[in-house]
Amino acid sequence: MAQLPDILIPQAYINGQWHAGSRRFPVTNPASGETLADVPDLDADDTRKAVAAADAAWPAWRRTPAKQRAALLRTWFNAIMAHQEDLARLMTLEQGKPLAESRGEVGYGASFVEFYAEEAKRIAGETLPSHGENKRLLVFRESIGVVAAITPWNFPLAMITRKCAPAMAAGCPVVIKPAEATPLTALALAALAEQAGIPAGVLNVVTAQDPKAIGDVLTSDPRVRKVSFTGSTPVGKTLLAQCAQTVKKASMELGGNAPFIVFDDADLDAAVEGSIASKFRNSGQTCVCTNRFLVQSHVHDAFVDKLAKRVAELKVGNGLEDGVVQGPLINTAALDKVQTHISDVLDKGGRLVCGGEPHPLGGTFFQPTVLADVTDDMRVATEETFGPVAPVFRFETDDEAIAMANATEFGLAAYFYATDYRRIWHVMEGLEYGMVAVNEGLLSTELAPFGGVKESGLGREGSHHGLDEYTELKYVCIGGL
Ligand code: ADP
Repeated sequence: MAQLPDILIPQAYINGQWHAGSRRFPVTNPASGETLADVPDLDADDTRKAVAAADAAWPAWRRTPAKQRAALLRTWFNAIMAHQEDLARLMTLEQGKPLAESRGEVGYGASFVEFYAEEAKRIAGETLPSHGENKRLLVFRESIGVVAAITPWNFPLAMITRKCAPAMAAGCPVVIKPAEATPLTALALAALAEQAGIPAGVLNVVTAQDPKAIGDVLTSDPRVRKVSFTGSTPVGKTLLAQCAQTVKKASMELGGNAPFIVFDDADLDAAVEGSIASKFRNSGQTCVCTNRFLVQSHVHDAFVDKLAKRVAELKVGNGLEDGVVQGPLINTAALDKVQTHISDVLDKGGRLVCGGEPHPLGGTFFQPTVLADVTDDMRVATEETFGPVAPVFRFETDDEAIAMANATEFGLAAYFYATDYRRIWHVMEGLEYGMVAVNEGLLSTELAPFGGVKESGLGREGSHHGLDEYTELKYVCIGGL
């Protein structure tokens, strides 16, 4: 049995109390199939209790001076960083990502708490020029109210802090519904929030095996004023439609189909390093992971060779082992999707360059894979693979590359490598994406607005823009002066 950290209390957290729940469900380690712990399987009534607790906490929390909210968030940040190693290990156990990536995620996730602790003190309104001699116009930025945060399994910590920290900074209480595959990290975060002195009801975590009943309450209860979701596009669309009934504000961080374009003037070695970072992080299971490599004809063969050599060096295994950079996939459905996409490419005339098979370790481990001669009639052109598969497409001209990159209903992250500055501007402006990385394979930071266009989502997380998701403007006109 894996040793779990002391900070973990495997119970739901509602109104500052821990609840064991009458039914429980197991959380397993994707690297071994071992059960790590079981957690409460809550229902709609429990969720309504959490919403009621959050709603009751709202008046005092929004009136708490910004400086004091900032100090509480800062204390939570310090607690997270003091337990970085415990949290990282727990995350690797329930999610599978290599320990170094989990450590990185704790730092990244905590950075939102630190940033919004600072920003809490800067949520200012404004006075505006008036339209009448005896009138004065004021704009207040007020907290929106109870926030529901529905989060995915691929970033069990950072997707929670990226929503909760700005919400709490703005004076909003939150009800978190973590992914059923990775609730333990969420519960450990809640325990640290409790230790940090976050008042009862301000942060609540409801765990459940089947998310539907919980989601139905969170998207229909009129006390919930804002739903912030990160996950798949189909679920996001359903939740958005459900939110329409009570006209809830919603942020949606959904799927992507990230292109990674390599132009003929690119530094190929740098492009290969960027490819590894952007494609193979978390075994390809992030929404900003490259889904399609588009490579200009002149450098195509050289790039594929270099990429395949580097990919063949990636060590696959249990994320807790030294040197492992590729963990298991989250479940067998993920493994099936990877295999289906590879077969589809090979059936339609694509070429296997390396990998292509389940890893000899078994379970949901898969060999990092490179495919060439990929064309736009293949499923990888339009569907997100969410696995360690790098399909390479070929192009001739810049305009062709931009058109191929944009030929998707998604618009989250795009990457490209080039050196000519005119080309860089032209391509950067031509890409219909919420985020563009130029000569970089990683772009996430709490300092910048993360989010997509088209069917990749609504709203932004991170930076000062992230606060707008949790505030409403109240315009006041004072007349008769
Ligand atoms: P993934 O394919 O990455 O698991 P999902 O969109 O299925 O993405 O899951 C993201 C989050 O949405 C998880 O917390 C999951 O439990 C939740 N979820 C899935 N279906 C629903 C639903 N019908 N209502 C509310 N939450 C849901």
